[in-house]
Amino acid sequence: MTDTYMAADLPFPGSPVVPEMSDGSKKIQFQCRKGIACWNACCSNIDISLTPYDILRLKRRFGMDSGEFLKKYTAPYELEPGSIVGVKLRPVESGTACQFMTDGGCSVYGDRPTACRYYPVALLSLRRQGETTDTQSYALVKEEHCLGHNEPRTITINDYRQEQGVEEYDELARGWRQLILKKKSSGPSIGKPTRRSLELFFMACYDLDRFTSFVASEGFSELYDVPADEMQQILRNDTETMLFGFRFLKQVLFGEQTIPLKKEVAEERQQRLREKRLQAESDAAGKLAVEQDDTYDDRAD
Ligand code: SF4
Ligand code: SF4
Repeated sequence: MTDTYMAADLPFPGSPVVPEMSDGSKKIQFQCRKGIACWNACCSNIDISLTPYDILRLKRRFGMDSGEFLKKYTAPYELEPGSIVGVKLRPVESGTACQFMTDGGCSVYGDRPTACRYYPVALLSLRRQGETTDTQSYALVKEEHCLGHNEPRTITINDYRQEQGVEEYDELARGWRQLILKKKSSGPSIGKPTRRSLELFFMACYDLDRFTSFVASEGFSELYDVPADEMQQILRNDTETMLFGFRFLKQVLFGEQTIPLKKEVAEERQQRLREKRLQAESDAAGKLAVEQDDTYDDRAD
């Protein structure tokens, strides 16, 4: 089963992705049904990236701690070399099949990941240069083993998304997709992220129980000024905690301030910034003076 695609993964020659992007009104011919000759072929050879909401739904289904879930069912991979990390479903030991596949089909069907819901449609989240919002386009994935394309049913991509319950999944993963697109479009101008920020990204996006403990910690409330009732709401509901995580990362990684800092911390930071600026100005003045001295020396020579 092929993954949900992100912006950079445009179709390549030989790829099963049909090289035509469309909006949701495009009709496709497809149906997957029990009894079809290729039953389970897609789940026998998986490459499925998980969104934070996919992880939340599955770990909730199993009543597992996020750390335990990540260890047992997933493997990390680099979304970009040396940069932020994504998480994929880990296949069965020494095989390629999904751990959730059974003869009867998907054993986690009600909570199956976004990529499984979308299949055989690929989602392409794009942000064009100079635009601040991303747009969604779709492409069709036609893999030889999948006979669903021969079934006599046509459906628009929008209706297919609704049928597969994808809208909620997309809505709740939007903040995460925006973070990835921001990181990809910022390129080297923002520089290589520090190990600390990569760890924070992993924790807030995927290891939700650890992030919950972090937000509930004394250290967090010493730094951030979140009203008590808002904090209660964030901690009471894991979906809210996840969404707060995206907000937190936008602030920590990209400086989008939406979580107020405690007054004294904010003052201290401003003071540090002022000192940094003064230091930079004084360094620049010193450099200029040296350059001028060199010019005079050259003339004297
Ligand atoms: S989660 Fe379910 S639908 Fe997705 S690959 Fe595994 S068995 Fe197949
Ligand atoms: S029709 Fe396609 S999606 Fe359905 S079981 Fe067959 S290979 Fe999988």
